[in-house]
Amino acid sequence: MTTLYRRLPAVHRLLETPELVAAIKQYGRPAVVGACRRALGELRTAAARGALGNEQLELECASLPSRVVQTLVETWRRPYAEIINATGVLLHTNLGRAPLPSPMPAQLAGYLALEYELEEGRRGQRLAPLADRLRETLGVESAVMVNNNAAALALLLRTHADGREVVVSRGQLIEIGGSFRLPDVMAAAGARLVEVGCTNRTHLEDYRRAIGEATAAVLVAHQSNYRVIGFTSEPPLDELARLAHDHNLPLLVDQGSGAVHDLGRWGLPHEPTVGELLAAGADAVCFSGDKLLGGPQAGIVAGRSRWVDPLARHPLFRALRPDKTALVWMDRVLEAHRAGRLEDIPLYALLDVPEGVLRRRARRIARSLTKNGVPATAVATRSALGGGTTPGATLASWGVAVQAAPPLAAALRTGAPPVVGTMHDDTVVLDLRAVFSSQDRTLEAAVATAYKASQNRQATGR
Ligand SMILES: *Cc1c(COP(=O)(O)O)cnc(C)c1O
Repeated sequence: MTTLYRRLPAVHRLLETPELVAAIKQYGRPAVVGACRRALGELRTAAARGALGNEQLELECASLPSRVVQTLVETWRRPYAEIINATGVLLHTNLGRAPLPSPMPAQLAGYLALEYELEEGRRGQRLAPLADRLRETLGVESAVMVNNNAAALALLLRTHADGREVVVSRGQLIEIGGSFRLPDVMAAAGARLVEVGCTNRTHLEDYRRAIGEATAAVLVAHQSNYRVIGFTSEPPLDELARLAHDHNLPLLVDQGSGAVHDLGRWGLPHEPTVGELLAAGADAVCFSGDKLLGGPQAGIVAGRSRWVDPLARHPLFRALRPDKTALVWMDRVLEAHRAGRLEDIPLYALLDVPEGVLRRRARRIARSLTKNGVPATAVATRSALGGGTTPGATLASWGVAVQAAPPLAAALRTGAPPVVGTMHDDTVVLDLRAVFSSQDRTLEAAVATAYKASQNRQATGR
């Protein structure tokens, strides 16, 4: 077996074959090296199992380069294809929001103690370990996780306000990404919306007047993706909490973003964190898992036990409960937050890249592309967090601008790997804020290939 093993070619040998020399030009070295390692790993596993004879191994080795090329082609043609996000938007809902840490947690490839108590050898509670982790990470009394934040809010309202009234300011009747509209979610959850105040100004008095016999809760929704500026007013949260509590009502907050750190650290405007909202008197705060938490799609409700614990006992919870992948990923991400290892969370690794580093990378890529006949320049850009967080706020970034007609943007999107950038007049801008440095060479190769393809298309009038 060991001798079979030794007959496998080394990665650098494979890379010298003409097929892979060409592939490196098209896909970039890191992608090809990765595909080689995977193909060799598969062969090694097969050899170790004794599944391959001498002759077969030889055949397999001979066909390795073409198999690697085939994997590369398939990788970028499959559904939910991996792409390079050169939009400059870190949390892009259409591009999967927060990227997850690697490698994938090992237990997801096998069996796991999902709802099983190992010491007792009996059935356990699916959510209990994560709730513990949420409590210790966020310093909250109680927490529950469901499928996404829309589900979290719906469950919260269904549990506490079914058939009753919920008071909301007219300045907070938000729509997010088309399919989340606060009034619709409330209606679906069986709660009656009572609007108070005006779009730009709502006062404590407005809330006070609206509270009556049928009131079940006061709800505050974070203005995720827009800002009301100018002559505006909303009562401070602590006053609203006092008012709600005076009437024995809970103050619920749809915070949305999942901010748990002060965004001032990254030069962004401060977003109230989950902890701050609870400290100001909110009873339950709900937010997404795949926004500023940097984790998998999830909705979390955190706050006081009296208002949070009943959620997990509601029959609807069963329909909204998170799957094992979300739970395991979330546990991993929360542990990184708790330990202060933000660099282990890709969103924060990207956010932390200094502007100077982005500038250097943009210049290098632009230089190299220019040498290759692509009219590219490094440009200063503004990137954004996105995903309905910090509306209007931008971060300093750098990108590569390529002067070309619109077919270039399309060629980039349908290339291998697909690259999604932004079009400004006759220029495609590829912002590096959401591009991992390990993707630079691949990005460069993809741009060169797409540029040539779009030039050819123009020349032949197709
Ligand atoms: C993002 C957001 C939502 C929707 O969250 P999903 O996790 O996408 O369901 C709801 N409310 C606010 C305030 C948000 O920012």
